[in-house]
Amino acid sequence: MPLNPIDLHSVIVRHWGINQLRPLQEPAMKAVLMGRDSLVVLPTGGGKSLCYQAPAVLRNSTTVVISPLISLMKDQVDSLLSCGIKALQLNSSQTNVERNSCIKEIKEGRVRLLFVSPERLVQTDLYQLLQEINVDTFAVDEAHCVSHWGHDFRPEYRQLSKLKELFPQASVHAYTATATDHVRRDIIEQLGLRNPEILIGNFDRPNLTYLIIPCRESTKQIMEVIARHRNEGGIIYCLRRADVDSLASELTKFGIKAMPYHAGLSPKHRTETQDAFTTEQCDVVVATVAFGMGIDRSNVRYVVHAGLPKSLEHYQQETGRAGRDGLEAECVLLYSGADFFTWKSIIEKSSIDPGVDPSFVPNSINQLKHMNNYCRAAACRHTLLVRHFGQLSEINSCVACDICLGYTVSVPDANIVAQKILSCIARVKDQYGVGYIVAVLRGENTQSVRSRGHSSLSTYGLLKEHSAADIRDWIYQLISQEVLLQEEIETEPGRTIPILRLNSASWEVMRNQRDIRLLQPVHSKKGEQPSKSKTDTESWQGVDRDLFEEFRALRKQLATERNVPPYIVFADATLRELARNRPSSLGKMRQIYGVGDSKLRDFGQKFLDLLIIHCKARNLTMDM
Ligand code: ADP
Repeated sequence: MPLNPIDLHSVIVRHWGINQLRPLQEPAMKAVLMGRDSLVVLPTGGGKSLCYQAPAVLRNSTTVVISPLISLMKDQVDSLLSCGIKALQLNSSQTNVERNSCIKEIKEGRVRLLFVSPERLVQTDLYQLLQEINVDTFAVDEAHCVSHWGHDFRPEYRQLSKLKELFPQASVHAYTATATDHVRRDIIEQLGLRNPEILIGNFDRPNLTYLIIPCRESTKQIMEVIARHRNEGGIIYCLRRADVDSLASELTKFGIKAMPYHAGLSPKHRTETQDAFTTEQCDVVVATVAFGMGIDRSNVRYVVHAGLPKSLEHYQQETGRAGRDGLEAECVLLYSGADFFTWKSIIEKSSIDPGVDPSFVPNSINQLKHMNNYCRAAACRHTLLVRHFGQLSEINSCVACDICLGYTVSVPDANIVAQKILSCIARVKDQYGVGYIVAVLRGENTQSVRSRGHSSLSTYGLLKEHSAADIRDWIYQLISQEVLLQEEIETEPGRTIPILRLNSASWEVMRNQRDIRLLQPVHSKKGEQPSKSKTDTESWQGVDRDLFEEFRALRKQLATERNVPPYIVFADATLRELARNRPSSLGKMRQIYGVGDSKLRDFGQKFLDLLIIHCKARNLTMDM
């Protein structure tokens, strides 16, 4: 079907209340309308769903969407229904009556988008049904699940290789946010895409502020982030299940609506957490990396990593869950060099498992090093991240990361600081761990320092004007720059401790033959709030915050009545625009982003009534 941009535009405005397409959405839709296979790689929140949804409505026929999780399908179906588009899902949890009713509607040709799981798709009955109604367009959501090389491989997705055999005339469209070249090639091959249109978007997410901050007192630091986002949604990732449980209960004691999520909890407990977060009954989920896929909540305003992620791919994926609605969101990573060693030892231990591929350990350690170096680098985090994914763009001062916002600065005289640390290690003869070296450098008058005679060393107290946390952090930076080693030594059978050792590069630093760069956080004055990113400042400009909160409460009530998540009623961006513009009539409200015909009919009057009462009580002008 040839693309008529006017028809497409009017469908999008009518149903979604969206006036402008995002980058690559138009060519992606064009590929669907022309029946040409496609692979669309856009970052999370880039608007991939619209690429197949809008053409499905325009073509007036059924498009089949393959999706990995029932919860994802449910969200998408609810969201489409709220936009006045007939959508449904077929899954194994349905009763016979429900299934028969769905099949009837499908046969009548009334369904625009049909969501199915990959294993369901290749079953004979469904295959025959889809043949009967001449389905000729398939959209594969989260297409990286088909690839072994991705981090979310799902064996069921392998069955999709039969798709082209079963429906040789149909076009297949794959959508993913996973950026590696290897995965992309694998998707094309596994799905058997023929001469596909390949569309790869810009991976930068300018609305995310990346802050890499040395981990000092993690609970206190996490509480500070939560305090900046009172009543807003956030995810806190921890490395271990035990950390998840203890942090979640600690936060709850402070009156924060936090819930835990990890693979050790029962499926019922996990579903409760996920549902409570999606429906905004709970603000904070404390989780291991098991939490993520299937979370479609678009207004997650922060993601905290309480521990180091094991790769930049994981980091990008996990931080990507923040700010899917395009509004500002904060991604805070509490960095500790010690996490690098924890991961390294976990990875090395896993090599003992006979089933492990021999390339696993070196590959994983390499990925871990990339992650660690990213944290230790002194360059714009946005630029480094997109470069890692093969995009060479230079972002001129993003004003949305700790480096560009000036939270982290280079240490003046870093070479001298490094020389002091390294020569202290040389003086104590490579036999002690980080804590002890810090004590000597700070000139601590402890029994253990005195008894070894180290209080008379020339390096005793050399860095006494600095905090223990700063010195500890610099030591880990030296290790990550490979001018210092941390090694495990056995003190007695079965008991090892980590000690610091010099290498040849350490001597180059001490002889002034090698330059060192060290970072330190800028210590903010008590009570001082960190500066805000450009997106943060702009997206709140002119917004009546009290009205926004009143809208949120109304949205939650309407969502509960309908048993859907609040963001399906209206996105935060729509509420902010309503609270900024204060439209005085339904006609004017229709011009607001995210207000299509169906939502205007269902919710418009209620929001308008609230708005009028609010403005009258405060004598506020409308139609700003
Ligand atoms: P992805 O699947 O790429 O992560 P989604 O399809 O879930 O992203 O879209 C994220 C959000 O962006 C949704 O709320 C969607 O309605 C919105 N959106 C999509 N396209 C546009 C657009 N052109 N303009 C504004 N908002 C859009």
